Amino acid sequence: MEADVVVIGSGPAGLQAAIHAARKKVEVVLIGKLENSSTFGIPVENYFGTSGRQSGTDLLMNGVRQAVSFGCEVEDMNVISAERTGDRFRITSESGEVVDAKAVVLATGITRNHLGVSGEKEFGNGKGISYCAACDCNFYKDKVVAVVGGQSEAAISAELMTRYASKVYWIFPKFDADASLVEKALAAGAERITESVKQIKGEGKVNAVVLSDGREISLDGVFIELGGKSSADLAMEIGVMPEVDDTIKVDRNCATSVPGVFACGDITGRPWQIGKAVGEGVVAGSAAADYSKKVGQ
Ligand SMILES: Cc1cc2nc3c(=O)[nH]c(=O)nc-3n(C[C@H](O)[C@H](O)[C@H](O)COP(=O)(O)OP(=O)(O)OC[C@H]3O[C@@H](n4cnc5c(N)ncnc54)[C@H](O)[C@@H]3O)c2cc1C
Repeated sequence: MEADVVVIGSGPAGLQAAIHAARKKVEVVLIGKLENSSTFGIPVENYFGTSGRQSGTDLLMNGVRQAVSFGCEVEDMNVISAERTGDRFRITSESGEVVDAKAVVLATGITRNHLGVSGEKEFGNGKGISYCAACDCNFYKDKVVAVVGGQSEAAISAELMTRYASKVYWIFPKFDADASLVEKALAAGAERITESVKQIKGEGKVNAVVLSDGREISLDGVFIELGGKSSADLAMEIGVMPEVDDTIKVDRNCATSVPGVFACGDITGRPWQIGKAVGEGVVAGSAAADYSKKVGQ
């Protein structure tokens, strides 16, 4: 199959990129599994225009309908390989189908790092565990929470949560966060505990964590802030090298170092938020469509 633009990833970034590229009347193929988007199955209340807790799944499904209505072909499957051949790209999906495209938009997102302790899976689905303080802070007003992680993002989250929660424990065995951010979090009232979390306990929802020194702390929520890994393998296959922090570097047009390859969303770095993913999707999709028109002319 031939396409002007192939978008890899059907989260908010990829869907918006596909919509904006298709609006420019170029042939667009979008490949990616909706259910693997970080937005699938989450409640969203901080994205523009949402009212109360909007279903992330509904946002994505509406996005697919929009993309299709603008003429975009959507394939709900994974891409297994990507290859650059001259000034074109060959993208192979798990069905074995090959798309020959003039431009590629990488919107494959990130996978958040997990703590890997007992209780994490059980309470991970809106039952007291969150991986994003900026997203879920409001659900923990006047509650007792822990932020787990030693890096700067954890410090930022600990400080943020002091503005919502009645008590914030900031727990990690080793703190490598930027000193000024640590100072801010502690000055705001976060209590630092230099131990590991060994277990998350609860009944129906989280009610305590067990620490490596055996102590048990009663609380209502745990924010796991341990960073994430991007799905950058496909980027490398077409010559785009990830940065040391695993993100893909882009310019203001969301162009990568390889002509014809654009990237948007969580894969380009923080903040890992729908608004930022969608904004970059607009830029990447439009730029990829413009680029595709020039190829071979
Ligand atoms: C628990 C949780 C709660 C959150 N809450 C909020 C919130 O309240 N507000 C907010 O703004 N943000 C929130 N976020 C963050 C938000 O979900 C992400 O920022 C957003 O989904 C990023 O969009 P994206 O398109 O870059 O990546 P994703 O939505 O993760 O989409 C990536 C896409 O790439 C696809 N993909 C990956 N590899 C391949 C491959 N090899 N082939 C084909 N496709 C591939 C995946 O299938 C998926 O479709 C939350 C995230 C989590 C995990």
